[in-house]
Amino acid sequence: MTAITVRAPAKVNVGLSVGPLRDDGYHDLVNVFHAVSLFDEVTAAPADRLQVRVEAAPGSPVPVADVPVDDRNLAVRAARLVAARLGVEPRVALRVRKAIPVAGGMAGGSADAAAALLACARLWDDGGRLDLMELAAELGSDVPFALMGGTAVGLGRGERLTPLPTGGTFHWVFAMAHGGLSTPAVYAECDRLRAGRRVPPPEASDELAAALAAGSAKDLAAALHNDLQPAALSLRPDLRRTLDAGRDLGALGALVSGSGPTCAFLAESDRHAADLAAALAERGVAASTLRATGPAPGATVL
Ligand code: ATP
Repeated sequence: MTAITVRAPAKVNVGLSVGPLRDDGYHDLVNVFHAVSLFDEVTAAPADRLQVRVEAAPGSPVPVADVPVDDRNLAVRAARLVAARLGVEPRVALRVRKAIPVAGGMAGGSADAAAALLACARLWDDGGRLDLMELAAELGSDVPFALMGGTAVGLGRGERLTPLPTGGTFHWVFAMAHGGLSTPAVYAECDRLRAGRRVPPPEASDELAAALAAGSAKDLAAALHNDLQPAALSLRPDLRRTLDAGRDLGALGALVSGSGPTCAFLAESDRHAADLAAALAERGVAASTLRATGPAPGATVL
């Protein structure tokens, strides 16, 4: 059996509506995921024991030093889960090549989990017995979407997914920040900022769905929404400068990606995205910039 390589996409939340804190510590969400063409790659090769190596994808500016290389790594947890379900030993060497910012609000760890699930299933699950979507939901709320890709609305903790039709290609620029933000810390800050207020249940946006279906970047820009943005800005006030710079430089829309600190900017065209990325870099408001298009496919064997 030879090595299997799978790539899985980053996501940006084009609409994230966060309901009140539940008794179990989670929030009900209406989470509109949009996969973009920044991919991490996981290669799984038979080995005598489970090992993992993490590196930046060739040419990628993403720093990977903070990614754990033990059982906290989501790709490792995915490999162990597949092996446990099949009753085999997880004898695999994983190589994770990252192009998705780490702790950046783009679900890079979840992409690696999805990629490792698919790669290990290819290695060990001859009969296709496993339900990978079910295993993905066990690993984390964002993992099922990384398997699925495209654009989808996620209910519950975000894991109950329904695909959304998208009428065209959207052009994005991402401003990577120095350092990351912890997703639980951002949710906790969101709760703190909303303390004492009645928080309504999370809502779906018809405007957002219509803009996606029409493939209209202008309408999508007007409908972008992230309930976690005030919390991310509270923890990282410097991001306000980044968002303002993007708007000032002609982005159609700007928002914090998921729990941040990556900021996402919507452009009119490929050319516009290239100009915007260059101008943002020149202003010095980002550690580096990345360009991508969406929607992108979910986890795919290469
Ligand atoms: P999300 O948007 O899903 O909340 P994120 O994009 O903000 O996540 P990730 O890059 O997924 O953040 O990483 C979050 C944390 O998960 C990191 O700080 C890291 O310690 C841990 N982690 C575990 N496995 C991985 C992995 N394979 N790649 C990156 N981080 C990982």
